[in-house]
Amino acid sequence: MGVPLYIKINDKDNVAIAVNDIKAGTQVMEGVVAGQDIPQAHKIALCDIPKDGAIIRYGVVLGYAIDPISKGQWINEKMLVLPTPPSVDEMTFATNLVTDLPNPPVTTWEGYENPDGGYGGTRNILGISTTVQCVTGVLNVAVERMKKELLPKYPNVDDIVPINHAYGCGVAINAPEAKVPIRALRNLAKHPNFGGELMVVGLGCEKFTVEMLLDEADISPENVIILQEKKGFDDMIEALMEMAEKKLQKLNERKRKTLPLSDLLIGMQCGGSDAFSGVTANPSAGYAADMLVKGGATVLFSEVTEVRDGVYLLGQRCVNEEVGKKLAAEMKWYDNYLLNGEVDRSANPTPGNKKGGLSNIVEKAMGSIAKSGTSPIVEVLSPAEKPSKKGLIYAATPASDIVCGPCQLASGIGLQVFMTGRGTPYGLAIAPVIKVCSRNDMKMQWQDLIDVNAGPIATGEATIQDIGTLLFHQIIDVASGRKESFAEHYKLHNDLCIFNPAL
Ligand code: CA
Repeated sequence: MGVPLYIKINDKDNVAIAVNDIKAGTQVMEGVVAGQDIPQAHKIALCDIPKDGAIIRYGVVLGYAIDPISKGQWINEKMLVLPTPPSVDEMTFATNLVTDLPNPPVTTWEGYENPDGGYGGTRNILGISTTVQCVTGVLNVAVERMKKELLPKYPNVDDIVPINHAYGCGVAINAPEAKVPIRALRNLAKHPNFGGELMVVGLGCEKFTVEMLLDEADISPENVIILQEKKGFDDMIEALMEMAEKKLQKLNERKRKTLPLSDLLIGMQCGGSDAFSGVTANPSAGYAADMLVKGGATVLFSEVTEVRDGVYLLGQRCVNEEVGKKLAAEMKWYDNYLLNGEVDRSANPTPGNKKGGLSNIVEKAMGSIAKSGTSPIVEVLSPAEKPSKKGLIYAATPASDIVCGPCQLASGIGLQVFMTGRGTPYGLAIAPVIKVCSRNDMKMQWQDLIDVNAGPIATGEATIQDIGTLLFHQIIDVASGRKESFAEHYKLHNDLCIFNPAL
Protein backbone atom coordinates (compact mmCIF):
# COMPACT_ATOMS: atom_id res chain seq x y z
CA MET A 1 0.00 0.00 0.00
CA GLY A 2 1.38 3.40 -0.94
CA VAL A 3 1.46 6.14 1.67
CA PRO A 4 -1.59 8.37 1.12
CA LEU A 5 -0.75 12.00 0.53
CA TYR A 6 -3.63 13.58 2.37
CA ILE A 7 -5.89 13.31 5.43
CA LYS A 8 -9.58 14.12 5.18
CA ILE A 9 -11.32 14.18 8.54
CA ASN A 10 -15.04 14.35 7.78
CA ASP A 11 -17.14 13.32 4.77
CA LYS A 12 -18.45 16.90 4.53
CA ASP A 13 -14.95 18.39 4.26
CA ASN A 14 -14.04 20.17 1.02
CA VAL A 15 -10.38 20.43 2.04
CA ALA A 16 -7.78 17.84 3.05
CA ILE A 17 -4.42 18.11 4.84
CA ALA A 18 -1.07 17.26 3.24
CA VAL A 19 0.67 14.43 5.15
CA ASN A 20 4.04 15.57 3.77
CA ASP A 21 5.01 18.37 1.38
CA ILE A 22 3.13 17.83 -1.91
CA LYS A 23 4.76 18.95 -5.15
CA ALA A 24 2.77 20.87 -7.77
CA GLY A 25 1.32 18.53 -10.38
CA THR A 26 1.01 15.56 -8.00
CA GLN A 27 -2.26 13.65 -8.22
CA VAL A 28 -3.49 13.83 -4.63
CA MET A 29 -6.63 11.76 -5.10
CA GLU A 30 -8.84 10.79 -7.99
CA GLY A 31 -9.67 13.97 -9.87
CA VAL A 32 -7.56 16.26 -7.66
CA VAL A 33 -4.13 17.41 -8.82
CA ALA A 34 -2.07 19.82 -6.71
CA GLY A 35 -2.12 23.17 -8.50
CA GLN A 36 0.95 24.33 -6.62
CA ASP A 37 3.32 23.12 -3.86
CA ILE A 38 1.34 22.31 -0.69
CA PRO A 39 3.38 22.49 2.57
CA GLN A 40 3.08 19.65 5.10
CA ALA A 41 -0.06 19.84 7.30
CA HIS A 42 -1.56 22.58 5.10
CA LYS A 43 -4.92 22.48 3.35
CA ILE A 44 -5.65 21.64 -0.28
CA ALA A 45 -9.03 22.36 -1.93
CA LEU A 46 -10.84 19.16 -3.00
CA CYS A 47 -13.31 21.03 -5.21
CA ASP A 48 -13.79 24.48 -6.69
CA ILE A 49 -14.88 26.88 -3.96
CA PRO A 50 -16.59 30.11 -5.12
CA LYS A 51 -15.98 33.55 -3.57
CA ASP A 52 -17.71 33.60 -0.15
CA GLY A 53 -18.00 29.79 -0.31
CA ALA A 54 -17.57 27.85 2.93
CA ILE A 55 -14.24 26.14 3.64
CA ILE A 56 -15.13 23.03 5.59
CA ARG A 57 -12.81 20.91 7.76
CA TYR A 58 -13.81 18.66 10.67
CA GLY A 59 -17.28 19.00 9.12
CA VAL A 60 -17.48 22.64 10.23
CA VAL A 61 -17.04 25.98 8.51
CA LEU A 62 -13.54 27.29 9.19
CA GLY A 63 -14.22 30.42 7.18
CA TYR A 64 -15.34 31.81 3.84
CA ALA A 65 -13.24 32.21 0.69
CA ILE A 66 -12.14 35.81 0.04
CA ASP A 67 -11.60 35.00 -3.67
CA PRO A 68 -12.60 31.95 -5.73
CA ILE A 69 -10.41 28.93 -4.93
CA SER A 70 -9.86 26.25 -7.56
CA LYS A 71 -9.66 22.53 -6.97
CA GLY A 72 -6.10 21.49 -6.04
CA GLN A 73 -5.12 24.92 -4.74
CA TRP A 74 -3.29 25.52 -1.45
CA ILE A 75 -5.52 27.30 1.08
CA ASN A 76 -3.48 29.42 3.47
CA GLU A 77 -4.65 31.57 6.37
CA LYS A 78 -4.81 34.73 4.24
CA MET A 79 -7.45 33.27 1.91
CA LEU A 80 -10.37 32.98 4.28
CA VAL A 81 -12.35 35.21 6.59
CA LEU A 82 -13.54 33.97 9.96
CA PRO A 83 -17.17 33.05 10.38
CA THR A 84 -18.66 35.27 13.07
CA PRO A 85 -19.06 32.92 16.03
CA PRO A 86 -22.24 33.67 17.94
CA SER A 87 -21.57 34.97 21.44
CA VAL A 88 -22.22 32.56 24.26
CA ASP A 89 -25.57 34.30 24.73
CA GLU A 90 -26.66 33.42 21.20
CA MET A 91 -25.61 29.77 21.00
CA THR A 92 -28.02 27.21 19.60
CA PHE A 93 -28.44 23.98 21.53
CA ALA A 94 -29.23 20.39 20.59
CA THR A 95 -29.03 21.04 16.83
CA ASN A 96 -26.20 18.53 16.16
CA LEU A 97 -26.95 15.38 18.14
CA VAL A 98 -25.04 12.47 16.62
CA THR A 99 -26.37 9.03 17.54
CA ASP A 100 -24.47 7.01 14.94
CA LEU A 101 -21.48 6.05 17.12
CA PRO A 102 -18.97 3.21 16.58
CA ASN A 103 -19.70 0.01 18.48
CA PRO A 104 -17.18 -0.86 21.21
CA PRO A 105 -15.42 -4.23 20.74
CA VAL A 106 -16.12 -5.06 24.41
CA THR A 107 -18.76 -3.74 26.80
CA THR A 108 -17.28 -4.76 30.16
CA TRP A 109 -14.11 -4.21 32.15
CA GLU A 110 -12.62 -5.50 35.39
CA GLY A 111 -12.89 -2.94 38.18
CA TYR A 112 -13.52 -2.45 41.89
CA GLU A 113 -17.20 -1.99 42.54
CA ASN A 114 -18.16 0.94 44.73
CA PRO A 115 -21.32 1.27 46.81
CA ASP A 116 -24.21 3.64 46.13
CA GLY A 117 -23.97 3.43 42.35
CA GLY A 118 -20.63 5.22 42.32
CA TYR A 119 -18.18 4.70 39.49
CA GLY A 120 -15.90 1.67 39.73
CA GLY A 121 -12.30 1.92 40.85
CA THR A 122 -9.45 1.23 38.43
CA ARG A 123 -6.94 0.80 41.26
CA ASN A 124 -7.17 -0.11 44.95
CA ILE A 125 -5.45 2.67 46.89
CA LEU A 126 -5.30 3.93 50.47
CA GLY A 127 -5.73 7.68 49.95
CA ILE A 128 -4.82 9.87 52.92
CA SER A 129 -6.42 13.33 52.82
CA THR A 130 -4.97 16.39 54.50
CA THR A 131 -6.54 19.68 55.54
CA VAL A 132 -3.36 21.74 55.38
CA GLN A 133 0.20 21.70 54.05
CA CYS A 134 1.59 21.86 57.63
CA VAL A 135 1.01 18.11 58.15
CA THR A 136 2.80 17.04 54.96
CA GLY A 137 6.25 16.49 56.49
CA VAL A 138 5.00 14.13 59.20
CA LEU A 139 2.61 12.37 56.85
CA ASN A 140 5.30 11.74 54.23
CA VAL A 141 7.58 10.12 56.84
CA ALA A 142 4.68 7.93 57.97
CA VAL A 143 3.73 6.98 54.39
CA GLU A 144 7.30 5.90 53.68
CA ARG A 145 7.12 3.55 56.67
CA MET A 146 3.62 2.35 55.71
CA LYS A 147 4.86 1.42 52.25
CA LYS A 148 7.83 -0.47 53.67
CA GLU A 149 6.24 -2.15 56.68
CA LEU A 150 2.49 -2.43 55.96
CA LEU A 151 1.79 -2.44 52.23
CA PRO A 152 3.61 -5.76 51.52
CA LYS A 153 1.22 -7.48 53.97
CA TYR A 154 -1.81 -6.46 51.88
CA PRO A 155 -1.17 -7.67 48.32
CA ASN A 156 -4.59 -6.58 47.00
CA VAL A 157 -3.78 -2.93 47.74
CA ASP A 158 -1.85 -1.15 44.98
CA ASP A 159 -0.50 1.92 46.74
CA ILE A 160 -0.72 4.44 49.56
CA VAL A 161 -1.13 8.02 48.34
CA PRO A 162 -1.01 11.14 50.55
CA ILE A 163 -3.19 13.92 49.12
CA ASN A 164 -0.75 16.73 49.83
CA HIS A 165 -1.63 20.23 48.62
CA ALA A 166 -0.90 23.90 49.25
CA TYR A 167 -4.46 24.83 50.29
CA GLY A 168 -5.74 25.01 53.86
CA CYS A 169 -4.31 28.08 55.59
CA GLY A 170 -3.46 31.63 54.54
CA VAL A 171 -6.32 31.40 52.06
CA ALA A 172 -9.54 33.38 51.59
CA ILE A 173 -11.60 30.55 53.05
CA ASN A 174 -14.86 32.55 53.08
CA ALA A 175 -14.54 34.01 49.57
CA PRO A 176 -17.38 32.89 47.27
CA GLU A 177 -15.01 31.03 44.92
CA ALA A 178 -13.38 29.13 47.81
CA LYS A 179 -16.09 26.59 47.04
CA VAL A 180 -13.92 25.37 44.12
CA PRO A 181 -10.82 24.18 46.07
CA ILE A 182 -13.02 22.99 48.96
CA ARG A 183 -15.17 20.94 46.56
CA ALA A 184 -12.03 19.54 44.93
CA LEU A 185 -10.54 18.33 48.23
CA ARG A 186 -13.88 16.96 49.47
CA ASN A 187 -14.38 14.98 46.27
CA LEU A 188 -10.74 13.81 46.14
CA ALA A 189 -11.11 12.30 49.64
CA LYS A 190 -13.86 10.08 48.23
CA HIS A 191 -12.19 9.14 44.94
CA PRO A 192 -13.52 5.82 43.55
CA ASN A 193 -10.01 4.31 43.77
CA PHE A 194 -10.07 4.73 47.57
CA GLY A 195 -12.96 2.29 48.02
CA GLY A 196 -14.87 4.50 50.47
CA GLU A 197 -12.14 4.23 53.13
CA LEU A 198 -11.55 7.68 54.60
CA MET A 199 -8.33 8.69 56.35
CA VAL A 200 -7.75 12.35 57.14
CA VAL A 201 -4.83 14.15 58.78
CA GLY A 202 -5.30 17.69 60.12
CA LEU A 203 -3.15 20.01 62.21
CA GLY A 204 -5.75 21.59 64.48
CA CYS A 205 -5.57 25.35 63.91
CA GLU A 206 -5.97 25.65 60.10
CA LYS A 207 -8.70 27.60 58.33
CA PHE A 208 -9.81 24.60 56.25
CA THR A 209 -11.23 22.42 58.99
CA VAL A 210 -12.07 18.71 59.07
CA GLU A 211 -15.73 19.83 59.24
CA MET A 212 -15.33 21.50 55.84
CA LEU A 213 -13.57 18.49 54.31
CA LEU A 214 -15.88 15.69 55.52
CA ASP A 215 -19.58 15.10 56.00
CA GLU A 216 -20.54 15.11 59.68
CA ALA A 217 -21.27 11.38 59.65
CA ASP A 218 -17.71 10.65 58.51
CA ILE A 219 -15.98 12.61 61.27
CA SER A 220 -14.81 10.10 63.87
CA PRO A 221 -11.62 8.97 65.62
CA GLU A 222 -11.61 6.01 63.17
CA ASN A 223 -11.14 8.40 60.23
CA VAL A 224 -9.44 11.56 61.54
CA ILE A 225 -6.08 12.27 63.22
CA ILE A 226 -5.30 15.79 64.50
CA LEU A 227 -1.56 16.23 65.01
CA GLN A 228 -1.89 18.92 67.72
CA GLU A 229 -3.70 16.37 69.89
CA LYS A 230 -0.71 13.99 69.80
CA LYS A 231 2.18 13.79 72.28
CA GLY A 232 5.08 14.45 69.97
CA PHE A 233 6.39 12.88 66.80
CA ASP A 234 6.45 9.20 67.82
CA ASP A 235 2.84 9.38 68.99
CA MET A 236 1.82 10.94 65.64
CA ILE A 237 3.57 8.23 63.60
CA GLU A 238 2.11 5.48 65.79
CA ALA A 239 -1.42 6.82 65.34
CA LEU A 240 -0.95 7.14 61.57
CA MET A 241 0.46 3.60 61.26
CA GLU A 242 -2.34 2.14 63.36
CA MET A 243 -5.11 3.83 61.37
CA ALA A 244 -3.46 2.97 58.05
CA GLU A 245 -3.25 -0.72 58.98
CA LYS A 246 -6.98 -0.85 59.80
CA LYS A 247 -7.84 0.79 56.47
CA LEU A 248 -5.46 -1.50 54.55
CA GLN A 249 -7.11 -4.56 56.10
CA LYS A 250 -10.47 -3.42 54.72
CA LEU A 251 -9.11 -2.40 51.33
CA ASN A 252 -7.34 -5.75 50.99
CA GLU A 253 -10.75 -7.43 50.84
CA ARG A 254 -11.62 -5.59 47.63
CA LYS A 255 -11.47 -7.72 44.49
CA ARG A 256 -11.85 -6.83 40.86
CA LYS A 257 -15.01 -8.04 39.19
CA THR A 258 -16.53 -7.76 35.76
CA LEU A 259 -18.35 -4.44 35.55
CA PRO A 260 -20.37 -2.83 32.75
CA LEU A 261 -18.80 0.11 30.91
CA SER A 262 -21.42 2.28 32.61
CA ASP A 263 -19.28 1.94 35.77
CA LEU A 264 -16.23 3.42 34.01
CA LEU A 265 -15.39 7.15 34.18
CA ILE A 266 -12.36 8.47 32.33
CA GLY A 267 -10.95 11.89 31.45
CA MET A 268 -9.30 13.31 28.34
CA GLN A 269 -6.83 16.16 28.17
CA CYS A 270 -3.97 17.31 25.98
CA GLY A 271 -0.75 19.22 26.54
CA GLY A 272 2.17 20.35 24.39
CA SER A 273 0.07 20.11 21.22
CA ASP A 274 1.43 20.43 17.71
CA ALA A 275 0.00 20.69 14.18
CA PHE A 276 -0.67 16.96 14.02
CA SER A 277 -2.49 16.77 17.38
CA GLY A 278 -5.80 17.72 15.81
CA VAL A 279 -5.24 15.32 12.90
CA THR A 280 -3.93 12.17 14.59
CA ALA A 281 -3.90 11.94 18.40
CA ASN A 282 -7.02 13.95 19.28
CA PRO A 283 -9.37 12.42 16.67
CA SER A 284 -8.14 8.94 17.72
CA ALA A 285 -9.00 9.79 21.31
CA GLY A 286 -12.35 11.08 20.04
CA TYR A 287 -13.01 7.79 18.27
CA ALA A 288 -12.18 5.85 21.45
CA ALA A 289 -14.43 8.27 23.41
CA ASP A 290 -17.31 7.61 20.99
CA MET A 291 -16.88 3.83 21.46
CA LEU A 292 -16.82 4.21 25.25
CA VAL A 293 -19.92 6.41 25.24
CA LYS A 294 -21.73 4.01 22.90
CA GLY A 295 -20.91 1.25 25.40
CA GLY A 296 -22.39 3.28 28.29
CA ALA A 297 -19.19 4.72 29.81
CA THR A 298 -18.70 8.32 30.92
CA VAL A 299 -15.98 10.46 29.34
CA LEU A 300 -14.94 13.93 30.54
CA PHE A 301 -13.18 16.51 28.43
CA SER A 302 -12.11 19.88 29.76
CA GLU A 303 -9.70 22.81 29.29
CA VAL A 304 -11.84 25.93 28.82
CA THR A 305 -9.35 28.06 26.88
CA GLU A 306 -8.78 25.20 24.42
CA VAL A 307 -12.45 25.02 23.42
CA ARG A 308 -13.54 28.61 24.01
CA ASP A 309 -13.31 29.69 20.37
CA GLY A 310 -15.29 26.73 19.07
CA VAL A 311 -17.72 26.63 21.97
CA TYR A 312 -20.81 27.25 19.82
CA LEU A 313 -20.04 23.88 18.20
CA LEU A 314 -20.22 22.29 21.64
CA GLY A 315 -23.48 24.16 22.26
CA GLN A 316 -24.98 22.44 19.22
CA ARG A 317 -23.99 19.09 20.76
CA CYS A 318 -25.58 19.78 24.17
CA VAL A 319 -28.58 17.51 24.63
CA ASN A 320 -30.88 20.32 25.74
CA GLU A 321 -31.07 23.98 26.65
CA GLU A 322 -30.40 23.37 30.34
CA VAL A 323 -27.04 21.72 29.58
CA GLY A 324 -26.28 24.39 26.97
CA LYS A 325 -26.97 27.20 29.43
CA LYS A 326 -24.60 25.64 31.96
CA LEU A 327 -21.97 25.53 29.20
CA ALA A 328 -22.51 29.22 28.47
CA ALA A 329 -22.34 30.05 32.19
CA GLU A 330 -19.03 28.20 32.61
CA MET A 331 -17.54 30.04 29.61
CA LYS A 332 -18.68 33.41 30.98
CA TRP A 333 -17.31 32.56 34.43
CA TYR A 334 -13.93 31.81 32.87
CA ASP A 335 -14.01 34.93 30.66
CA ASN A 336 -14.51 37.00 33.82
CA TYR A 337 -11.84 35.07 35.69
CA LEU A 338 -9.32 35.86 32.95
CA LEU A 339 -10.53 39.46 32.72
CA ASN A 340 -10.06 39.96 36.46
CA GLY A 341 -6.53 38.58 36.15
CA GLU A 342 -5.94 40.93 33.17
CA VAL A 343 -5.05 37.95 31.00
CA ASP A 344 -5.28 38.37 27.24
CA ARG A 345 -6.49 35.32 25.35
CA SER A 346 -6.17 36.83 21.87
CA ALA A 347 -3.09 36.39 19.64
CA ASN A 348 -4.26 32.94 18.76
CA PRO A 349 -3.25 30.96 16.74
CA THR A 350 0.46 31.65 17.15
CA PRO A 351 2.78 32.16 14.16
CA GLY A 352 4.01 28.60 14.80
CA ASN A 353 0.44 27.31 14.61
CA LYS A 354 -0.03 29.06 11.24
CA LYS A 355 3.22 27.66 9.91
CA GLY A 356 1.90 24.29 10.99
CA GLY A 357 -1.18 24.79 8.84
CA LEU A 358 -3.68 26.14 11.36
CA SER A 359 -5.48 29.01 9.66
CA ASN A 360 -7.46 30.47 12.51
CA ILE A 361 -8.91 30.07 15.97
CA VAL A 362 -11.80 27.93 14.76
CA GLU A 363 -9.42 25.40 13.23
CA LYS A 364 -7.23 25.35 16.36
CA ALA A 365 -10.21 24.88 18.67
CA MET A 366 -11.57 22.15 16.40
CA GLY A 367 -8.29 20.24 16.75
CA SER A 368 -8.66 20.35 20.50
CA ILE A 369 -12.39 19.58 20.49
CA ALA A 370 -11.67 16.53 18.28
CA LYS A 371 -10.73 14.59 21.41
CA SER A 372 -14.37 14.69 22.49
CA GLY A 373 -15.45 12.65 19.47
CA THR A 374 -18.95 13.29 18.15
CA SER A 375 -21.27 12.20 21.00
CA PRO A 376 -23.95 14.46 22.43
CA ILE A 377 -22.89 16.34 25.60
CA VAL A 378 -25.19 15.17 28.38
CA GLU A 379 -23.90 17.35 31.21
CA VAL A 380 -21.60 20.31 31.94
CA LEU A 381 -19.67 20.42 35.23
CA SER A 382 -18.08 23.27 37.15
CA PRO A 383 -14.43 22.62 38.13
CA ALA A 384 -14.08 19.51 40.37
CA GLU A 385 -17.82 18.70 40.39
CA LYS A 386 -18.95 15.08 40.23
CA PRO A 387 -21.03 13.93 37.26
CA SER A 388 -24.67 12.98 37.74
CA LYS A 389 -25.16 11.64 34.19
CA LYS A 390 -23.51 8.97 32.04
CA GLY A 391 -22.11 9.73 28.61
CA LEU A 392 -19.94 12.54 27.25
CA ILE A 393 -19.53 15.37 29.75
CA TYR A 394 -17.83 18.72 29.48
CA ALA A 395 -16.01 19.37 32.78
CA ALA A 396 -14.85 23.01 32.79
CA THR A 397 -11.26 23.25 34.10
CA PRO A 398 -8.18 25.34 33.39
CA ALA A 399 -6.09 23.98 30.49
CA SER A 400 -2.89 23.64 32.55
CA ASP A 401 -2.07 19.93 32.69
CA ILE A 402 -1.28 19.89 36.39
CA VAL A 403 -4.48 21.80 37.31
CA CYS A 404 -6.83 19.99 34.92
CA GLY A 405 -5.56 16.63 36.27
CA PRO A 406 -6.61 17.17 39.91
CA CYS A 407 -9.93 18.75 38.80
CA GLN A 408 -10.79 15.65 36.75
CA LEU A 409 -9.62 13.39 39.60
CA ALA A 410 -12.00 15.24 41.92
CA SER A 411 -14.77 14.57 39.40
CA GLY A 412 -13.88 10.90 39.90
CA ILE A 413 -11.96 9.78 36.79
CA GLY A 414 -10.37 6.35 37.12
CA LEU A 415 -7.98 6.98 34.24
CA GLN A 416 -6.82 9.87 32.10
CA VAL A 417 -5.91 9.81 28.42
CA PHE A 418 -3.34 12.47 27.61
CA MET A 419 -2.56 13.57 24.06
CA THR A 420 0.73 15.29 23.32
CA GLY A 421 2.71 16.46 20.32
CA ARG A 422 5.84 17.86 21.89
CA GLY A 423 5.93 15.55 24.92
CA THR A 424 5.52 15.82 28.68
CA PRO A 425 6.32 13.13 31.31
CA TYR A 426 3.17 14.12 33.29
CA GLY A 427 1.47 11.54 35.49
CA LEU A 428 -0.94 11.19 38.43
CA ALA A 429 -0.64 9.06 41.58
CA ILE A 430 -4.37 8.45 42.10
CA ALA A 431 -5.22 7.19 38.60
CA PRO A 432 -3.14 5.93 35.67
CA VAL A 433 -2.40 8.26 32.73
CA ILE A 434 -2.13 6.89 29.17
CA LYS A 435 0.00 9.01 26.81
CA VAL A 436 -0.91 9.31 23.14
CA CYS A 437 1.54 11.13 20.85
CA SER A 438 0.67 12.81 17.57
CA ARG A 439 3.66 11.87 15.40
CA ASN A 440 6.21 9.09 14.86
CA ASP A 441 9.23 11.28 15.79
CA MET A 442 7.84 11.80 19.29
CA LYS A 443 7.42 8.05 19.83
CA MET A 444 10.95 7.42 18.51
CA GLN A 445 12.32 9.98 20.95
CA TRP A 446 10.33 8.80 23.98
CA GLN A 447 9.89 5.07 23.35
CA ASP A 448 9.48 4.36 27.06
CA LEU A 449 7.10 7.22 27.92
CA ILE A 450 4.54 7.21 25.10
CA ASP A 451 1.95 4.43 25.35
CA VAL A 452 0.13 4.87 22.04
CA ASN A 453 1.55 6.40 18.87
CA ALA A 454 -1.03 8.06 16.60
CA GLY A 455 1.73 9.11 14.17
CA PRO A 456 1.00 6.29 11.68
CA ILE A 457 -2.24 8.13 10.82
CA ALA A 458 -0.19 11.00 9.40
CA THR A 459 1.94 8.65 7.31
CA GLY A 460 -1.07 6.69 6.10
CA GLU A 461 -0.01 3.46 7.80
CA ALA A 462 -3.09 3.49 10.03
CA THR A 463 -6.50 5.12 10.16
CA ILE A 464 -8.12 7.13 12.95
CA GLN A 465 -10.38 4.11 13.45
CA ASP A 466 -7.34 1.79 13.79
CA ILE A 467 -5.57 3.93 16.42
CA GLY A 468 -8.86 4.83 18.12
CA THR A 469 -9.69 1.13 18.50
CA LEU A 470 -6.14 0.39 19.73
CA LEU A 471 -6.50 3.19 22.28
CA PHE A 472 -9.92 1.86 23.35
CA HIS A 473 -8.34 -1.53 24.14
CA GLN A 474 -5.45 0.18 25.96
CA ILE A 475 -7.96 2.12 28.09
CA ILE A 476 -9.86 -1.06 28.99
CA ASP A 477 -6.65 -3.03 29.72
CA VAL A 478 -5.13 -0.32 31.93
CA ALA A 479 -8.45 0.40 33.69
CA SER A 480 -8.80 -3.35 34.35
CA GLY A 481 -5.30 -3.61 35.83
CA ARG A 482 -4.08 -5.96 33.08
CA LYS A 483 -1.57 -3.37 31.89
CA GLU A 484 0.32 -0.43 33.37
CA SER A 485 0.89 2.80 31.48
CA PHE A 486 4.49 4.02 31.36
CA ALA A 487 3.76 6.97 33.69
CA GLU A 488 2.28 4.51 36.20
CA HIS A 489 5.13 2.03 35.82
CA TYR A 490 7.79 4.64 36.53
CA LYS A 491 5.63 6.32 39.23
CA LEU A 492 5.68 9.71 37.51
CA HIS A 493 3.41 11.53 39.91
CA ASN A 494 2.90 15.26 39.57
CA ASP A 495 1.90 17.31 42.61
CA LEU A 496 -1.80 18.01 43.01
CA CYS A 497 -2.20 21.67 42.09
CA ILE A 498 -5.65 22.44 43.43
CA PHE A 499 -7.45 25.11 41.36
CA ASN A 500 -8.05 28.06 43.67
CA PRO A 501 -9.76 31.01 41.93
CA ALA A 502 -10.40 32.63 45.36
CA LEU A 503 -6.93 33.98 46.03
CA1 CA B 1 -3.76 20.58 29.24
